[in-house]
Amino acid sequence: MNLIELPYAPNALEPVISAATLGFHHGKHLQAYVNNLNAALPGSPYEGMSLEEIVCNADGGIFNNAGQILNHNLYFTQFRAPREANAPTGALKGQIERQFGSFETFKTEFAAKGAGLFGSGWVWLSADEDGRLVITQEPNAGNPVTKGLRPLLTFDVWEHAYYLDYQNRRPDHLKALWTIIDWDEVERRYAE
Ligand code: MN
Repeated sequence: MNLIELPYAPNALEPVISAATLGFHHGKHLQAYVNNLNAALPGSPYEGMSLEEIVCNADGGIFNNAGQILNHNLYFTQFRAPREANAPTGALKGQIERQFGSFETFKTEFAAKGAGLFGSGWVWLSADEDGRLVITQEPNAGNPVTKGLRPLLTFDVWEHAYYLDYQNRRPDHLKALWTIIDWDEVERRYAE
């Protein structure tokens, strides 16, 4: 298992996510999960499995580290430089409007689920097998693949994701994240 490369420069997401936060979050936290999993996999029943397979089958430390790698790989590859008007444009846009009424309502509901998650975890937008959208909260290293859902978009609400830039102001951080979502990538995940 290798550490993923970021598809943008370390300062590309500023001021929403600083280069310092990215350096720790990607270079230290995610690297540690990769190192831990690589140390635990050899000789285990999960050697040779994909991250998704490990997350759906393992428990304990292997689940935690594989889950955090899968989650962060999806998280870090869903961003691009800030844009003022930033919104989906394709089939996902239509589905959001059908189910939530409007993109604004969806954003409010999603961010509220992130702000309201107690402790460390993730809020997810996923698709079920019929293409319907589902918002879920997952504690710690949880990923909606364990519920048969296909993850599309996620906000990391562990404090390490925002504390250097926003301290305790988690809702402000989550609100700012909307300006850096790469909706082309999220639409691509939805179309898969
Ligand atoms: Mn994180």
